[in-house]
Amino acid sequence: MPYDSEVFAAALRRVEQRRAQAIQENERIKYELYKKIPRLAEIERELAETGIKVAKEILNSSGDTSSKLEKLRSQNLSLQAERAELLVANGYPKEILAINYFCPKCHDTGYCGDSVCDCLRALLREEACKRANAGSPLPLFTFDTFDLSYYPDEHDDRFDFNVRWHMEKVLNHCKNYAADFKHADTSLLMLGKTGLGKTHLALSIANAVIEQGFGVVYDTAQNIFMKMEDENFGRSDKKYTFSVFDCDLLILDELPDYASPFAVNTLYNIINTRMLHHRPMIVSTNLTEKELESRYGERIFSRLIGEFKLLKFFGSDIRQLKLRRKANC
Ligand SMILES: [Zn+2]
Repeated sequence: MPYDSEVFAAALRRVEQRRAQAIQENERIKYELYKKIPRLAEIERELAETGIKVAKEILNSSGDTSSKLEKLRSQNLSLQAERAELLVANGYPKEILAINYFCPKCHDTGYCGDSVCDCLRALLREEACKRANAGSPLPLFTFDTFDLSYYPDEHDDRFDFNVRWHMEKVLNHCKNYAADFKHADTSLLMLGKTGLGKTHLALSIANAVIEQGFGVVYDTAQNIFMKMEDENFGRSDKKYTFSVFDCDLLILDELPDYASPFAVNTLYNIINTRMLHHRPMIVSTNLTEKELESRYGERIFSRLIGEFKLLKFFGSDIRQLKLRRKANC
């Protein structure tokens, strides 16, 4: 399914802005350097003139043009060499006068020949995700505000580890996952009771990944299923569903206790399609592994447990602890 025209126009506007910015910056550098080293401006004029001569020679000449063209070519090369030497002699890199495009592949046009360049694809995804998240809360949770002091610094005999140390490992795993998202090929399953920080870490990853220019769709699983169900039954177009499958990172927060047959099928479809395209996702739930299997069935359970990196959350409900801390102040 193609992106709608609004998304397309917004992404193209951003490509054009990048191009305009790159050209403007190039003009600024030229202005500075030509003032400092006037010979550089002369070289640019001479290079433009040889270019015009070459074009005229090809268009107008009836006889043998090869020797004249060869002469112009060598003039051109020696001017370029002189320019490079001048720049290096004055302490500048020899490429400094070339336009520094954000995307060297398409020179910030968004297209390589007839095909859409990867840079424009990334912007399309980002713009579509922005629209998909509109109306759902994506509050600014960050890793810095994840407070490990809420987790007991004590050994838990049931699991034979220190809870705070364990949660520090979970936090670090999430930080590394977000920092190296461009290489992320695993999905995460966050398991644990309510109030243990799953949403906080999922949203911290989302914000870090969005900052790197990736498209993220976030919402509670319940809302995502509901919006997709609406689209499925023709109550609106399929823009949202498209972004759920297409975004760089999908976050399905709080898998609900009760799953309708539509939700189960949709979840299975989402997991399979995204795995097929190597697009990661984060699923969080308060359900235990046993409950997951009984509510969502063996085929979803085996994918979640077998293919996702499992992050287990431990401790006591942080919302309660915060209230108690406030009350004691
Ligand atoms: Zn490009």
